[in-house]
Amino acid sequence: MFEVLHPYDNTLITHPDYIKLALDNGFQRTNDYVGGRCPVCKREMKVRAGHKKDDGHFYHNDSEFCPTKDPASRPYLGKVAAQIDPHAVNLNRKFVRSNIECIWSRLSEIVPYLDLLEFIAILKEARRLNVYGYVGGVPELIPYVFVTLINFLPSKSREQKRKLKFCFFYDSSVKKYEDLWIDKGINSDLVRISYKNSETIRVKIFDMEYQYLSRQKFRLSEKQKNWVLDEV
Ligand SMILES: [Zn+2]
Repeated sequence: MFEVLHPYDNTLITHPDYIKLALDNGFQRTNDYVGGRCPVCKREMKVRAGHKKDDGHFYHNDSEFCPTKDPASRPYLGKVAAQIDPHAVNLNRKFVRSNIECIWSRLSEIVPYLDLLEFIAILKEARRLNVYGYVGGVPELIPYVFVTLINFLPSKSREQKRKLKFCFFYDSSVKKYEDLWIDKGINSDLVRISYKNSETIRVKIFDMEYQYLSRQKFRLSEKQKNWVLDEV
Protein backbone atom coordinates (compact mmCIF):
# COMPACT_ATOMS: atom_id res chain seq x y z
CA MET A 1 0.00 0.00 0.00
CA PHE A 2 1.48 3.35 -0.98
CA GLU A 3 -0.70 5.47 1.28
CA VAL A 4 -1.89 4.95 4.83
CA LEU A 5 -3.69 6.90 7.50
CA HIS A 6 -1.58 9.37 9.41
CA PRO A 7 -0.75 7.97 12.89
CA TYR A 8 -3.07 10.46 14.61
CA ASP A 9 -5.27 12.14 11.97
CA ASN A 10 -7.85 10.76 9.60
CA THR A 11 -5.84 11.85 6.55
CA LEU A 12 -3.90 9.74 4.09
CA ILE A 13 -0.15 10.09 3.90
CA THR A 14 2.34 8.76 1.37
CA HIS A 15 5.56 6.92 2.04
CA PRO A 16 7.72 10.09 1.70
CA ASP A 17 5.30 11.98 4.04
CA TYR A 18 5.67 9.22 6.59
CA ILE A 19 9.46 9.23 6.43
CA LYS A 20 9.47 12.98 6.92
CA LEU A 21 7.13 12.62 9.90
CA ALA A 22 9.40 9.99 11.49
CA LEU A 23 12.44 12.24 10.94
CA ASP A 24 10.62 15.32 12.29
CA ASN A 25 9.83 13.30 15.41
CA GLY A 26 13.49 12.36 15.84
CA PHE A 27 13.44 8.71 14.74
CA GLN A 28 16.43 7.36 12.93
CA ARG A 29 14.70 4.17 11.79
CA THR A 30 11.29 4.76 10.27
CA ASN A 31 9.85 1.49 11.65
CA ASP A 32 10.62 2.67 15.20
CA TYR A 33 8.09 5.47 14.80
CA VAL A 34 4.43 4.71 15.68
CA GLY A 35 3.54 3.58 12.16
CA GLY A 36 0.91 4.60 9.66
CA ARG A 37 -2.50 2.99 10.07
CA CYS A 38 -4.41 0.80 7.67
CA PRO A 39 -7.40 2.81 6.38
CA VAL A 40 -9.69 -0.21 6.74
CA CYS A 41 -8.72 -2.14 9.88
CA LYS A 42 -6.95 0.88 11.47
CA ARG A 43 -4.10 -1.30 12.73
CA GLU A 44 -0.49 -0.21 12.47
CA MET A 45 1.27 -0.95 9.21
CA LYS A 46 4.98 -1.49 8.78
CA VAL A 47 6.95 0.45 6.25
CA ARG A 48 9.31 -1.01 3.69
CA ALA A 49 11.76 1.06 1.70
CA GLY A 50 11.52 0.73 -2.05
CA HIS A 51 14.10 -0.52 -4.47
CA LYS A 52 13.52 2.46 -6.66
CA LYS A 53 12.93 6.06 -5.66
CA ASP A 54 9.15 6.03 -5.38
CA ASP A 55 8.09 2.49 -4.52
CA GLY A 56 8.45 2.50 -0.74
CA HIS A 57 5.25 1.09 0.75
CA PHE A 58 3.32 -0.05 3.81
CA TYR A 59 2.28 -3.59 4.66
CA HIS A 60 0.62 -5.73 7.35
CA ASN A 61 3.25 -8.00 8.84
CA ASP A 62 1.01 -10.42 10.73
CA SER A 63 -1.54 -13.10 10.02
CA GLU A 64 -4.49 -11.24 11.54
CA PHE A 65 -7.54 -10.65 9.40
CA CYS A 66 -7.76 -7.51 7.32
CA PRO A 67 -10.14 -7.41 4.36
CA THR A 68 -7.51 -5.53 2.32
CA LYS A 69 -5.45 -8.72 2.31
CA ASP A 70 -8.33 -10.59 0.72
CA PRO A 71 -10.97 -8.29 -0.81
CA ALA A 72 -13.39 -11.18 -1.28
CA SER A 73 -13.60 -11.66 2.47
CA ARG A 74 -15.14 -8.27 3.20
CA PRO A 75 -17.39 -9.18 6.14
CA TYR A 76 -20.60 -7.66 4.83
CA LEU A 77 -20.18 -8.98 1.31
CA GLY A 78 -22.84 -11.29 -0.03
CA LYS A 79 -24.91 -11.36 3.16
CA VAL A 80 -28.62 -11.52 2.58
CA ALA A 81 -30.59 -9.26 4.91
CA ALA A 82 -31.53 -11.17 8.04
CA GLN A 83 -34.63 -9.23 8.95
CA ILE A 84 -36.77 -7.99 6.11
CA ASP A 85 -39.00 -5.06 6.76
CA PRO A 86 -41.48 -4.83 3.86
CA HIS A 87 -42.05 -1.17 4.63
CA ALA A 88 -38.30 -0.45 4.33
CA VAL A 89 -38.16 -2.43 1.07
CA ASN A 90 -40.85 -0.23 -0.44
CA LEU A 91 -39.32 2.96 0.85
CA ASN A 92 -35.81 2.13 -0.35
CA ARG A 93 -36.86 0.86 -3.76
CA LYS A 94 -39.03 3.90 -4.26
CA PHE A 95 -36.07 6.09 -3.34
CA VAL A 96 -33.79 4.33 -5.82
CA ARG A 97 -36.38 4.52 -8.58
CA SER A 98 -37.02 8.23 -8.15
CA ASN A 99 -33.33 9.13 -7.80
CA ILE A 100 -31.85 6.65 -10.23
CA GLU A 101 -29.97 9.28 -12.22
CA CYS A 102 -28.44 10.92 -9.11
CA ILE A 103 -27.38 7.48 -7.89
CA TRP A 104 -25.81 6.66 -11.26
CA SER A 105 -24.04 10.02 -11.16
CA ARG A 106 -22.73 9.52 -7.62
CA LEU A 107 -21.46 6.06 -8.47
CA SER A 108 -19.78 7.45 -11.60
CA GLU A 109 -18.01 10.03 -9.43
CA ILE A 110 -16.48 7.43 -7.16
CA VAL A 111 -15.98 4.60 -9.67
CA PRO A 112 -13.95 5.86 -12.64
CA TYR A 113 -15.22 4.59 -16.02
CA LEU A 114 -18.33 3.01 -14.55
CA ASP A 115 -20.10 1.09 -17.29
CA LEU A 116 -23.85 0.84 -17.55
CA LEU A 117 -23.57 -2.96 -17.45
CA GLU A 118 -21.71 -2.69 -14.14
CA PHE A 119 -24.57 -0.56 -12.81
CA ILE A 120 -26.99 -3.24 -13.92
CA ALA A 121 -24.86 -5.94 -12.26
CA ILE A 122 -25.04 -3.89 -9.04
CA LEU A 123 -28.82 -3.55 -9.24
CA LYS A 124 -29.21 -7.28 -9.85
CA GLU A 125 -26.99 -8.05 -6.86
CA ALA A 126 -28.92 -5.56 -4.73
CA ARG A 127 -32.11 -7.38 -5.59
CA ARG A 128 -30.61 -10.82 -5.00
CA LEU A 129 -29.32 -9.84 -1.56
CA ASN A 130 -32.40 -7.76 -0.89
CA VAL A 131 -30.31 -4.84 0.30
CA TYR A 132 -33.51 -2.80 0.09
CA GLY A 133 -34.83 -4.79 3.00
CA TYR A 134 -32.45 -3.70 5.74
CA VAL A 135 -34.40 -2.58 8.70
CA GLY A 136 -34.03 1.09 9.57
CA GLY A 137 -32.42 1.87 6.25
CA VAL A 138 -31.38 5.38 5.41
CA PRO A 139 -32.19 5.48 1.69
CA GLU A 140 -29.63 8.23 1.01
CA LEU A 141 -26.84 5.79 1.90
CA ILE A 142 -27.82 3.31 -0.80
CA PRO A 143 -25.14 4.36 -3.35
CA TYR A 144 -22.52 3.63 -0.69
CA VAL A 145 -23.93 0.16 -0.21
CA PHE A 146 -24.12 -0.35 -3.99
CA VAL A 147 -20.38 0.20 -4.51
CA THR A 148 -19.56 -2.65 -2.13
CA LEU A 149 -21.70 -5.18 -4.00
CA ILE A 150 -19.32 -5.91 -6.88
CA ASN A 151 -15.61 -5.58 -7.64
CA PHE A 152 -14.81 -3.13 -10.40
CA LEU A 153 -12.58 -4.82 -12.94
CA PRO A 154 -10.69 -3.11 -15.76
CA SER A 155 -12.17 -5.56 -18.28
CA LYS A 156 -15.75 -4.57 -17.40
CA SER A 157 -15.17 -0.81 -17.40
CA ARG A 158 -16.49 1.64 -19.96
CA GLU A 159 -14.47 1.14 -23.15
CA GLN A 160 -12.07 -0.83 -20.91
CA LYS A 161 -10.45 2.42 -19.86
CA ARG A 162 -10.04 1.57 -16.18
CA LYS A 163 -6.44 0.61 -15.49
CA LEU A 164 -6.75 -0.74 -11.96
CA LYS A 165 -9.19 -3.00 -10.12
CA PHE A 166 -11.25 -1.18 -7.49
CA CYS A 167 -12.77 -2.65 -4.34
CA PHE A 168 -14.73 -0.71 -1.74
CA PHE A 169 -14.55 -1.31 1.98
CA TYR A 170 -16.01 0.24 5.06
CA ASP A 171 -13.70 0.80 7.97
CA SER A 172 -13.67 -2.02 10.49
CA SER A 173 -16.41 -0.52 12.69
CA VAL A 174 -18.85 -1.74 10.01
CA LYS A 175 -19.28 -5.52 10.16
CA LYS A 176 -22.59 -5.68 8.36
CA TYR A 177 -24.72 -3.27 6.34
CA GLU A 178 -27.06 -2.70 9.27
CA ASP A 179 -24.18 -1.08 11.18
CA LEU A 180 -24.19 1.73 8.65
CA TRP A 181 -27.69 2.80 9.44
CA ILE A 182 -26.97 3.22 13.12
CA ASP A 183 -24.94 6.40 12.78
CA LYS A 184 -26.30 7.17 9.30
CA GLY A 185 -22.81 6.77 7.83
CA ILE A 186 -21.49 9.80 9.69
CA ASN A 187 -18.74 8.10 11.66
CA SER A 188 -17.85 5.39 9.18
CA ASP A 189 -15.43 5.72 6.30
CA LEU A 190 -15.90 4.35 2.83
CA VAL A 191 -12.52 3.37 1.45
CA ARG A 192 -11.72 2.62 -2.17
CA ILE A 193 -8.62 0.55 -2.76
CA SER A 194 -7.07 0.16 -6.20
CA TYR A 195 -5.24 -3.03 -7.02
CA LYS A 196 -2.89 -3.99 -9.77
CA ASN A 197 -2.98 -7.78 -9.85
CA SER A 198 -3.26 -8.36 -6.11
CA GLU A 199 -1.02 -5.53 -5.02
CA THR A 200 -2.63 -2.53 -3.35
CA ILE A 201 -1.73 0.59 -5.24
CA ARG A 202 -3.87 3.48 -4.08
CA VAL A 203 -6.34 4.35 -1.36
CA LYS A 204 -9.06 6.95 -1.36
CA ILE A 205 -11.55 7.80 1.38
CA PHE A 206 -15.02 9.02 0.48
CA ASP A 207 -17.44 11.04 2.47
CA MET A 208 -20.82 9.28 2.57
CA GLU A 209 -22.58 12.56 1.87
CA TYR A 210 -26.16 13.09 0.72
CA GLN A 211 -25.61 16.23 -1.39
CA TYR A 212 -25.25 14.06 -4.47
CA LEU A 213 -29.04 14.28 -4.64
CA SER A 214 -28.76 17.89 -5.75
CA ARG A 215 -26.06 17.59 -8.39
CA GLN A 216 -25.90 15.52 -11.54
CA LYS A 217 -22.57 15.35 -13.31
CA PHE A 218 -23.30 12.14 -15.18
CA ARG A 219 -26.59 11.58 -17.00
CA LEU A 220 -28.53 8.66 -18.40
CA SER A 221 -30.47 8.71 -21.65
CA GLU A 222 -34.21 7.97 -21.46
CA LYS A 223 -33.54 4.53 -22.92
CA GLN A 224 -30.78 3.77 -20.42
CA LYS A 225 -32.95 5.02 -17.58
CA ASN A 226 -35.79 2.68 -18.52
CA TRP A 227 -33.35 -0.19 -18.86
CA VAL A 228 -31.89 0.26 -15.38
CA LEU A 229 -35.27 0.92 -13.76
CA ASP A 230 -36.33 -2.56 -14.85
CA GLU A 231 -33.67 -3.95 -12.52
CA VAL A 232 -34.71 -2.07 -9.38
ZN1 LIG B 1 -5.76 -3.53 7.46
